[in-house]
Amino acid sequence: MYFQSKLLFEKAQELIPGGVNSPVRAFKSVGGTPIFMKHAKGAYMYDVDGARYLDYINSWGPMILGHAYEPVVKAIQEYATYSTSFGTPTELEIKVAEQIVKMVPNIDQVRMVNSGTEACMSALRLARGYTGRNKFIKFEGNYHGHADAFLVSAGSGVATLNIQAVPGVTQAVSEDTLTAPYNNLPAVEQLIADNPEQIAAIIVEPVAGNMGCILPQPGFLEGLRQLCDANGILLIFDEVMTGFRLARGGAQELFNIKADLVTFGKIIGGGMPVGAFAGRREIMQHIAPAGKVYQAGTLSGNPIAMIAGYTVLQILDEHPVIYSRLEEKKDYLVKGMREALGAAGIVHQINHVGSMLSVHFAEYPIIDFSAASGASNELFKRFFHAMLERGVYLPPSAFESWFLSNALTQEDLDFTIDATKKAIKAITNS
Ligand code: PMP
Repeated sequence: MYFQSKLLFEKAQELIPGGVNSPVRAFKSVGGTPIFMKHAKGAYMYDVDGARYLDYINSWGPMILGHAYEPVVKAIQEYATYSTSFGTPTELEIKVAEQIVKMVPNIDQVRMVNSGTEACMSALRLARGYTGRNKFIKFEGNYHGHADAFLVSAGSGVATLNIQAVPGVTQAVSEDTLTAPYNNLPAVEQLIADNPEQIAAIIVEPVAGNMGCILPQPGFLEGLRQLCDANGILLIFDEVMTGFRLARGGAQELFNIKADLVTFGKIIGGGMPVGAFAGRREIMQHIAPAGKVYQAGTLSGNPIAMIAGYTVLQILDEHPVIYSRLEEKKDYLVKGMREALGAAGIVHQINHVGSMLSVHFAEYPIIDFSAASGASNELFKRFFHAMLERGVYLPPSAFESWFLSNALTQEDLDFTIDATKKAIKAITNS
């Protein structure tokens, strides 16, 4: 199995650090050879050996409508003939901004960037420039991209690779990053009390997706909002994963909480490299050239990326039924997997919301990073490989969320539940 992938991985390791262009792809925590994909359509990916996989990563979130979605492919083809980049303003950028402002509550202006990392990095700079304060609070196990300031107690690949301190991130930078456990308001209150009038922002994943999927406990996000209001702190919702996924208007809409700044990535680019940050006009006006907080990008607002994202956003906007369908699919899958795991007597937790979920092998609720870290990685590893062998492609780390696409059919879900039963049998018999 995976013959061509193994050959390619050997060659890749000669030329690319660790053989991959982003760490979690390397299967480091689950072991084995990363699978090299060749093409994908709808809910399926096909590898270089010709094997087919049901995809529960969906490019880590963006492919909410499935792979190679016809309207997106057509739009990209058409726009590529106009030029792949102008470096001037285009009308399309206005349309995209209009579409985002229409869908997302509580924002007046948007700045497009090229990744979720850039979106979060720029939102933090804006919060600092706006408040004139340097420090900020983030949560253990939340991931906001690889900008220096965020690589303290970070989730995703940093957690998967168990990197405690990232070499190259200076002490001076890290000192301004204050961390609290997710879902722990008293810890946040304490940080604010210890650093009076020094905290520019609290940045949070409103549903954490980078330590598995962890939901905010009732009152947590409301509490953050209140603490921000009471202390002149900006609340930044990192909606790189949750934006346009949990609802048309993302987590702000789902939980009915207003953030001061919101960051986006993934779905907003329809699979192209795009990010964005947005907020009220009064705050966004501080961004250059309107204001002095500098932020720029040669390829920002790139027409091919814009048309891909625009096409997806329009479809989501016009067909809100997609969100209820996704939720039904997720509920069906969670129920089937719970029954399968329960029947085999395997202790587990499945956290889920919208079209995000994750499975942790633990007997206690997973509400923060330390709980997620305490779950059995050994069992996750074996489960991951047993599912992969049966054609189901899960995130290769327990510190990642699964993402469902609307391309999944009833048969696909039944196939996945059946694969789960077979996988459990295989791992409990071995
Ligand atoms: N924020 C969150 C919540 C993310 O999940 C990610 C990426 N998984 C990022 C930021 C960084 O985005 P990118 O990888 O596009 O830089």
